[in-house]
Amino acid sequence: MNNFIKKYLFLAFAIILINGEVVGQASRPNILLILMDDLGYSDVGFMPDAASDIHTPNLDLLANQGTVFTSAYVTHPFCGPSRTSIMTGRAPHDLGAQFNLAAFSGNGINAEEKFISKVLDEADYYTGLIGKWHLGEETEFHPNSRGFDYFYGFLGGGHEYFSNSWLNHSTYDPSNYSVGNYTGDYKRPMMENSDYVASASGAYCTDVLTDAGIQFIENASQNTEPFFLFLSYNAPHTPVQAMQSDINEIKTELGNNAAPDGSERLTYTAMMYNVDNNVQRLVNQLKSTGEYDNTLIIFLSDNGGKTSRGALNSPLRGGKGDAYEGGFRVPMFFHWPNGNVPQAYTHSSNFSSLDFYPTFAFLAGATIPESKIYDGLNVWDDIINKSNPRADVPVFVMRQHNGSNYTGIVENNFKLYTPGNGRWFLYNLTNDIAETTDLSAQYPEIVASMKEAAYQWTWSHIRPEFFDNPSYGFEDSWSDTNMPNFGKTFGDLYDPNDYDKPTNISIQSENLVDAYIYPNPVSNTLYIEFDSSEGQKCDAALYDMSGRLLQLQLSLGQSGNGAFVLPIDNVIPNGSYIFKASIGEKSCSKSIIVSR
Ligand code: CA
Repeated sequence: MNNFIKKYLFLAFAIILINGEVVGQASRPNILLILMDDLGYSDVGFMPDAASDIHTPNLDLLANQGTVFTSAYVTHPFCGPSRTSIMTGRAPHDLGAQFNLAAFSGNGINAEEKFISKVLDEADYYTGLIGKWHLGEETEFHPNSRGFDYFYGFLGGGHEYFSNSWLNHSTYDPSNYSVGNYTGDYKRPMMENSDYVASASGAYCTDVLTDAGIQFIENASQNTEPFFLFLSYNAPHTPVQAMQSDINEIKTELGNNAAPDGSERLTYTAMMYNVDNNVQRLVNQLKSTGEYDNTLIIFLSDNGGKTSRGALNSPLRGGKGDAYEGGFRVPMFFHWPNGNVPQAYTHSSNFSSLDFYPTFAFLAGATIPESKIYDGLNVWDDIINKSNPRADVPVFVMRQHNGSNYTGIVENNFKLYTPGNGRWFLYNLTNDIAETTDLSAQYPEIVASMKEAAYQWTWSHIRPEFFDNPSYGFEDSWSDTNMPNFGKTFGDLYDPNDYDKPTNISIQSENLVDAYIYPNPVSNTLYIEFDSSEGQKCDAALYDMSGRLLQLQLSLGQSGNGAFVLPIDNVIPNGSYIFKASIGEKSCSKSIIVSR
């Protein structure tokens, strides 16, 4: 077992001991996930150090009635990879989804990967996606194929805001557009499920999407089952376009605090003012349909704000595209009335958008398939108890750009950063959230430990399945081990053989075999008897009940009678686990009990 997993394991148990038993009965709330696009860290009023020219009173009220998260991280500083993690609970790099999808490319996120929408759909949730998708346009990648009962919006990466610029729904044909044609992408007519539909003349996109959300809540309220609504606004992503009436109103509301007349910033703030009023329309609808009390509302951004186009991430350094905090630390709140989440509380522990997958499944009482790999934590207990789900458990970000790996690791209050050139910088976020003072010379052990964790994190990365731009210059240089220059980034740590180590055991149901596993319960040594031919190698892994890898042993040795031998790592305490083994093309999966 490597040190990283050991440390992770130790801390996982520490958390369990501190918090006692896992939360009991899930109450199956409605889940309204409001995802903003490229919203800056300080571009909502409820965040500390909020910009003074932002006016979002309705969002602020919701946030202040719930829990605000000041250290919420997404997994990538760009849209598509970040959204991939929200839907799959996995690092985008493990799915070859490190880049945005190019418009009309025909690519998408691996169709075998089970999205959280599918998990919730199978748990009898009424599921809807409204707004931006950006995870694949072909039928197999379409929201309706990924667990969403209902879809209204657009499949690409952004959108023009005024309906007068949208193309005619009756003649629109995506096959007329070449890969990467963003004009054709951003002017798509709205789509309802698999049909292009007409929109009213003079309509504004955020209003149109909210109208669809209001209708969805109306329909959902007719059902006895709860709903999951993923409301994926494209605001305030470029193009920066606002209604003149919203510009006028925010100027009236803020007076001298409003951004300067004619500035792009003023238009941006008006876009968020519009979002704020539309979120209130959704809240009003939840109340009038009787759904409000049982709805968990989550609000966050998919990545940092684009400072060159009106956004502000202050006091954070950097923005969209960066591995500095401004690229992937985002504003977030959770709201659920009647004390179901702590009220008027600011949670400063590190959270990750990877956590949505297991947390939503838990809240829904849904079952995550045993074979599903996910990287996040069920953090519900920590939200309720105001405790820290990530003591000593890092979050990672990596953006590949021009052959370099912009990499960030946040562990507790420390941030390790590299632009990918082998030079690493350490910041203490507690008193230096703006990442100004490099402490790497002062704390070499912390640098070494965090760098090692980041290096091991890359072992499971795979080559990109697609690139955001067909002219991307490094497509030919990607390899299974050195990606774009992992050697340059990790220096002496780098060993191409490390990338041959599988980081999980793949279980394919058509190749499942019934191996004889004994003894069970097991104290120290587990034996595995396969119907195998001589000389075959057996790999084995132990997972906790949430699917997290605890121990991985490759090429197990054999005992005298031919059984493969797995010494159970002595840091694994008594309890129930999932054991998986693979031999050649065949696999087995069993639950076992460790009892010493
Ligand atoms: Ca984005």
